[in-house]
Amino acid sequence: MYFSGTPQHRTGCRASLVGIAATLVACAVVLAISTTGAAQSTPRHSAALEGKLLSTSAECPVVQIHDKDQPLSAVNTYLYHTLQDKRLANREVRLEGTMKTDGTFEVARLFTVKDGKLFRVRYFCKTCNIVALEPGNCVCCQQPTELQEIPVTDDDPR
Ligand SMILES: [Zn+2]
Repeated sequence: MYFSGTPQHRTGCRASLVGIAATLVACAVVLAISTTGAAQSTPRHSAALEGKLLSTSAECPVVQIHDKDQPLSAVNTYLYHTLQDKRLANREVRLEGTMKTDGTFEVARLFTVKDGKLFRVRYFCKTCNIVALEPGNCVCCQQPTELQEIPVTDDDPR
């Protein structure tokens, strides 16, 4: 594993939208109830949000849901950097994760949504034929990797 920079000790940012967050927690709980199956085996109460990933100048990524902005954090730096990828700005996304007490939504899985279908996001170097975990240059040849969206099928392990 190679890092181009020093990994952040913790991904995320302070949220000042406590009131909005409380509303969104309620929404998230409703959404969580509507998701069935595998989620039941996880002790953490997971939720899913669908909205538009905003391109912000701020460091903190934000997803817009019904005209409300939800600040995001992520379970790892790779995902956090993916949420900040300008190529994904203003895209419809589905985010699965957990609402944190600081008002951010901690993303564990990211999908893009096109025509109601879900896509996984990955970064790929065609030259080296390898997949990278986050946006940036290929660890091997140092060329920019390509953002690819892989359709999620029903029998995909989720
Ligand atoms: Zn490469």
